[in-house]
Amino acid sequence: MNMSSSNIEYLLTAGDPSEVDALFAEARRLRDEVYGRRVFLRGLVEVSNHCLNNCLYCGIRRDMRCQRYRLTKEQILDCCRTGYGLVFRSFVLQGGEDAWMTDERVCDIVRSVKREFPDCAVTLSLGERGYESFARLREAGVDRYLLRHETADAGHYALLHPQEMSFDHRMQCLLDLRRLGFQVGCGFMVGSPGQTVETLKKDLAFIDEFRPEMVGIGPFIPAAGTPFENEPAGSVELTLRLLAIIRIIHPHVLLPATTALGTLHPTGRERAIRAGANVVMPNLSPQDTRALYSIYDNKLSTGSEAAETVADIRARMQAIGMEMPVDRGDFCLKQTP
Ligand code: SF4
Repeated sequence: MNMSSSNIEYLLTAGDPSEVDALFAEARRLRDEVYGRRVFLRGLVEVSNHCLNNCLYCGIRRDMRCQRYRLTKEQILDCCRTGYGLVFRSFVLQGGEDAWMTDERVCDIVRSVKREFPDCAVTLSLGERGYESFARLREAGVDRYLLRHETADAGHYALLHPQEMSFDHRMQCLLDLRRLGFQVGCGFMVGSPGQTVETLKKDLAFIDEFRPEMVGIGPFIPAAGTPFENEPAGSVELTLRLLAIIRIIHPHVLLPATTALGTLHPTGRERAIRAGANVVMPNLSPQDTRALYSIYDNKLSTGSEAAETVADIRARMQAIGMEMPVDRGDFCLKQTP
């Protein structure tokens, strides 16, 4: 399929449903060629909702008056134990940029997880850090790092973030992570204030050039109490088209069907899989902290036990012809035989 700049623009805006169906079919074909009809699970553990940053869109930004928490190492290990006992072989430890999460503390947590679950991948998503810090985390055994770039347009970045945050530093972090041998994930919100077709084309060009191992995109959802609380939510339809386009320009990428899609549409995650996604990230965090990690409003965070959630997701995936292997779900450069 033609992925020239003008055709991408056409695909993002086309009104013809048959064109969109063809786009999704091509994305599925390419995904199946590389990964087969498999959806990989990552167990998400939300380790802290403290954050020293003030991103304008975020429900746990520094200025929010909300109840803050941090999980202890033992709580984090408990979440992983629960996940391992189900089918998880990949854990994502996510949190705000929390100064309490020093290299020493994070490395200790990572080493403990790796010691107890040596066959599992550990991903961190703890925001920006310096090169030396990333190097220590890598040394401690971290396999992957997720850091959404948020937008590849510096002017748009400045609209979404306070002055003290730097577009250049964020991009530098992604380069540092790549240099240190992490599997790197970037990503952005769809429909964030100030986003245009032109900024989206820059995001896609960045992904095409950087070739990240993962890309996380989901619709923007406004969070009460933030400067963007009255902005409209992003479009599920546009997110699905972007997922398909990303799959086509980078067929080997690991592409999550994000929680934000499931929040805006009851079958949003299934639709994402049908548009070429191949990862889901159920929440393994303790029941009593899930509601506190409210980065946007009404976040899909069923009170269900992890076992119930996994059974529900497996049934949903089977219904659309996908299987969920017990697998770390590493980035793959080969094609399935
Ligand atoms: S988006 Fe991340 S870095 Fe920004 S305020 Fe929220 S948790 Fe902090």
